[in-house]
Amino acid sequence: MENNNMSTSRNQAEFDVIVLGGSYAGLSAAMQLARARRSVLVIDAGRRRNRFARLSHGFLTQDGSEAAAIAAQGRAQLQAYPNVAWASDTATAATGGGEHFDVTLSDGGSISGRRLVLAMGVTDTLPRVDGLAERWGRSVFHCPYCHGYELDEGDIGVLATGEVSMHHALMLPDWGRVTFLLNESFDPDDSQREALARRGVTVEATPVARIDGEADVVLRDGRRMSMTGLFVAPRTSVSGAIARQLGCATEAGPMGEFVATDAMKATSVPGVFSCGDMARAAGNVALAVADGAMAGVAAHRSLIAELNHAV
Ligand code: FAD
Ligand code: MG
Repeated sequence: MENNNMSTSRNQAEFDVIVLGGSYAGLSAAMQLARARRSVLVIDAGRRRNRFARLSHGFLTQDGSEAAAIAAQGRAQLQAYPNVAWASDTATAATGGGEHFDVTLSDGGSISGRRLVLAMGVTDTLPRVDGLAERWGRSVFHCPYCHGYELDEGDIGVLATGEVSMHHALMLPDWGRVTFLLNESFDPDDSQREALARRGVTVEATPVARIDGEADVVLRDGRRMSMTGLFVAPRTSVSGAIARQLGCATEAGPMGEFVATDAMKATSVPGVFSCGDMARAAGNVALAVADGAMAGVAAHRSLIAELNHAV
């Protein structure tokens, strides 16, 4: 546990807010609470979703910056506030509701807070194709807005994982020449094939044996297609069991379930807010930062009882 002064330490009886997850969304939530002079504890296991990619694109003022550097700068600016405590740790459980929550850390110790902000992100599951996982974030991506531009309108493979990949295949011609690799995972119907043809997409039905080189697709019949990059829609799942333990309602998204929230980023459980990738159908750094700001403000306002009764 690192803290900035003696007034906010792990041993504090109860934090106003405990933020679970200290990446873009959690940092942004904690920033609003820090600036509201509330006591905040951030618990972070240090495994950002984009840790496989060196550079991050599309976040205003930080386009092309190192993904780790954006998070590190955010953390340094947050930790300049004396009312912020930081635990580099994994939260293993959370219980409670309304006005009081207990969060368990990996050493079995427990910390209390009046509100929780869940910002633990999602976990990606890639299809099992030899050579794919090693290239995730380097030449294999899921978000064209994040990594499409750098492919310089080259040859792009879209590896199908299901219906959601149709969307990918129809979008990606704006970034290059697209081959849609069905890989026995998706079979477009006639109207879908017509739509793909209208977008100039080549459809390849032969299954993929492995990925090789930079982004070479080796098909089961031995053919090799050299790509500049590959896109694949992973299955996503809310990281950890804490949202489920607390009873937060979820919603189904095209890539996986996410925590349901209202416009203020409140979950179905009073006192629990959620933001970032774990609380939207699809996310990026800018959206995580925006959602985090909303969750932080909403958590703060919920601490002011008079505000809740004002209207
Ligand atoms: P995350 O960044 O995933 O952070 C969640 C944090 O919570 C982690 O630090 C994790 O360790 C912590 N945590 C989880 N469980 C616990 C627990 N139980 N206890 C304590 N801590 C916990 N977006 C862009 O805008 N531009 C890009 O260029 C870009 N490139 C990407 C490249 C790749 C390969 C991938 C996979 C994603 C990319 N993204 C990009 C998307 C971006 O990574 C996410 O949208 C963003 O990280 C979401 O932020 P977050 O704070 O919600 O979650
Ligand atoms: Mg307690």
